[in-house]
Amino acid sequence: TARIERHLYDVVVIGAGGAGLRAAIEARLAGKRTAIISKSLFGKAHTVMAEGGAAAAMGNVNSKDNWMVHFRDTMRGGKFLNNFRMAELHAKEAPERIWELETYGALFDRTKDGKISQRNFGGHEYPRLAHVGDRTGLELIRTLQQKIVSLQQEDFAETGSYESRIRVFSETTITELLLDGDRVAGAFGYYRESGEFLLLEAPAVILATGGVGRSYKVTSNSWEYTGDGHALALRAGATLINMEFLQFHPTGMVWPPSVKGILVTESVRGDGGVLRNSEGKRFMFDYVPDVFRKQYADTEEEADRWYTDPDNNRRPPELLPRDEVARAINSEVKAGRGTKAGGVLLDVSTRMPAETIIKRLPSMHHQFKELADVDITKEPMEVGPTCHYVMGGVEVEPDTAAAMGTVQGLFAAGEVSGGMHGSNRLGGNSLSDLLVFGKRAGEHAAAYGETLSKRPKVSTKDLEAAVTTALAPLQRQSGENPYGLQQDLQAVMGDLVGIIRREGELTDALKRIQELKLRVANVGATGGRRYNPGWHLALDLRNMMIVSECTAKAALEREESRGGHTREDFPAMSPQWRLVNLVCSLDDGGDVHLERKPLPTMRDELIQLFDRTELSKYLTEDEMSRFDANAE
Ligand code: FAD
Repeated sequence: TARIERHLYDVVVIGAGGAGLRAAIEARLAGKRTAIISKSLFGKAHTVMAEGGAAAAMGNVNSKDNWMVHFRDTMRGGKFLNNFRMAELHAKEAPERIWELETYGALFDRTKDGKISQRNFGGHEYPRLAHVGDRTGLELIRTLQQKIVSLQQEDFAETGSYESRIRVFSETTITELLLDGDRVAGAFGYYRESGEFLLLEAPAVILATGGVGRSYKVTSNSWEYTGDGHALALRAGATLINMEFLQFHPTGMVWPPSVKGILVTESVRGDGGVLRNSEGKRFMFDYVPDVFRKQYADTEEEADRWYTDPDNNRRPPELLPRDEVARAINSEVKAGRGTKAGGVLLDVSTRMPAETIIKRLPSMHHQFKELADVDITKEPMEVGPTCHYVMGGVEVEPDTAAAMGTVQGLFAAGEVSGGMHGSNRLGGNSLSDLLVFGKRAGEHAAAYGETLSKRPKVSTKDLEAAVTTALAPLQRQSGENPYGLQQDLQAVMGDLVGIIRREGELTDALKRIQELKLRVANVGATGGRRYNPGWHLALDLRNMMIVSECTAKAALEREESRGGHTREDFPAMSPQWRLVNLVCSLDDGGDVHLERKPLPTMRDELIQLFDRTELSKYLTEDEMSRFDANAE
């Protein structure tokens, strides 16, 4: 039998992005022995790549901002499909989480009078994103890591060991959660470098594994994002919601081909960048949907005035929520008004002096110079939609971040969890989401462990099964090639379950996913266990398949268009469908089972924050008559 290194913890956090680190800090502050696992190098997570900032209604730049306005914007952005309680907690607690980061050592950019500065972003009514140039995520991760190191130093002073209460396992992939009945008992995985196995036994596990973008051909996501946490949750008996909602960021690089998909931050538009088609037209004015007409300018003059006088002008349509902008670009390119490489033009060079561009958008300036030989202070950027973020994820209890379904002791926070963003996430709401719910997950995972009278046990049988599954691809040296399989899956998802979806294509996608599943069951990897990326991908593919099946099934089921889910055959939003969450679970045979579940009903005092005309665009007649009765 294979050698397995064993460790005992109170809380195991899978993922070392913002959500995972914030959760681990909280669990350690509650006195728990905590492990943090990271598939890549410690410090390299999507959180680091976040450029624009973290949304929090601190009201520093416009004092009219407060949690209620942020809550409204978030619900609007998600087209009212958000879990209202998560959106409420997020809007209320985000400012505190940002201020707290400064006590950990973060230093955000400042306003003239010394407050934390806030920038404009799509869908946010007031300037709201706390930022550090366009490298906010880097500061966030740097500070959380610094806090962890300072806690480790305290532990050293007390116990003589830096790792007595927090230990980081980097370049380590978790492949399986192990249960004792319905209770979490531990997490099993391997060190990527040596291929050696490890088991972390713990009564509470927090998933903070981020997104799923690697199932798509064109994506801003890096190699780790194969939906591992989503799949681990499903296999452990938890449920996923909203998996049909994927965010295609409107502006990824489109040229040169080797960098296709790499993100161009929304700050470019927030700071004044405009979109033009190949005919030079600022086309976004043609794409303002009715539900947003009141808040967006209809002339270029008004839009331009907004940057300096936001109180008396409406915002430019380039700052509509991402789903709207991505669809608009898609339509322009399809209509033949795109660039040769299949994008549109994003220009700051004619809008700001070169020094301002270099000061406010240093990473973008560098990125285009290095990767595309384009100087954005002199020429426009070429951009197009890229698969960026998954709104769907583990269905959680809003206050505790505990996973729903049959499993106990499993928690989820950050991008891997679902509900918070409804059908579309506003930019900047992720960094704040992962701080707010990371903290909550850490706190409640710690508290949950204390409710148990004895530690759940990992069974030898389950452990052996985890080893067998992990080794299987290496037993099939001449099995199917994992890289070929990943490419085939990416083609199916990109071509048939992409930005614009149709019934026939979705049915076809599901058929092909079934065929791919059979081939993945026969995936092989040549070589041995020492640093073997082919083997690692073979194991990731199992997760990508389940998650892609959830997305395709839910996309076929939802017969409406809303946020990150557009059906050409059902182009309108349907008030009836707004009442429905699509919930995925795994049946005994390991197949994805889809169920409709009612969306939780918003509390009256929250509903009353919206005006009647706006609500009537989203709610059913039934809901509206309840609203009217309560308003009287
Ligand atoms: P991540 O930061 O993605 O971290 C996931 C962690 O899980 C990693 O450590 C990974 O190694 C680990 N992991 C995954 N699978 C396993 C496994 N099987 N075993 C062990 N470890 C595992 N949002 C904003 O709010 N504002 C922005 O300006 C912004 N800009 C962005 C720019 C880019 C280029 C990208 C890609 C995203 C951006 N986002 C932004 C989105 C935001 O960065 C992410 O949604 C967010 O950082 C997710 O944080 P997280 O903590 O949930 O996970």
